[in-house]
Amino acid sequence: MMNIVLLGAPGVGKGTCAEVLAKKHSIPHISSGDIFREAVAGESELGKKVKQYLDRGELVPDELTVEVIRQRLEKDDCKKGFLLDGFPRTIAQAESLKKFSKIDHILNFTAVKKLIVERLSGRRTCRKCGAIYHIKYFPPKLEGVCDKCGGELYQRSDEAPDVVMKRLAVYEEQTKPLIDYYRNEGTLTDIDANYPAEEIGKIIEQCEEAIKNG
Ligand SMILES: [Zn+2]
Repeated sequence: MMNIVLLGAPGVGKGTCAEVLAKKHSIPHISSGDIFREAVAGESELGKKVKQYLDRGELVPDELTVEVIRQRLEKDDCKKGFLLDGFPRTIAQAESLKKFSKIDHILNFTAVKKLIVERLSGRRTCRKCGAIYHIKYFPPKLEGVCDKCGGELYQRSDEAPDVVMKRLAVYEEQTKPLIDYYRNEGTLTDIDANYPAEEIGKIIEQCEEAIKNG
């Protein structure tokens, strides 16, 4: 089976890899942020509950999050497998997940901090249309100006270098117990994500290897 959980810090590039793997194996890429949005848009009872928390800017409680995930994983498109991204975040969530779904592989994306900080803090976003650039890897034709709409490019506050460092520290602290938990179970494979975007194939290869050998 291809029931896969993806772990990795913000900016590590796991989202891009997930899209490639999802397409290749015809399994859905399920990110926790997206399914909250889906649940809310669907106007189900569950969605309404989720919306109350999101509207207040509060964290959706564990029990509710688990239920949203459970219902999503029951859908037909998950029969062959899925790539779960952004869940679980805690050991408690991992144990809940285990009750209704057998996870075959945990892919733990890692990259050196320097690279992640460079990736995230080099990003510039268009104020007008939301297009994303990178000062080094994907620069606009004219510095500070959006190619598509001429809007002004800015650096999001959560992408400033010192904020990125803080986010990484928080991520590490929160996720370390979960990584240890899965490592002890023997289902976790570390994926070396220290490659530039044009060498994404090297990261995908490692994922495929892990899936095959698991
Ligand atoms: Zn724009």
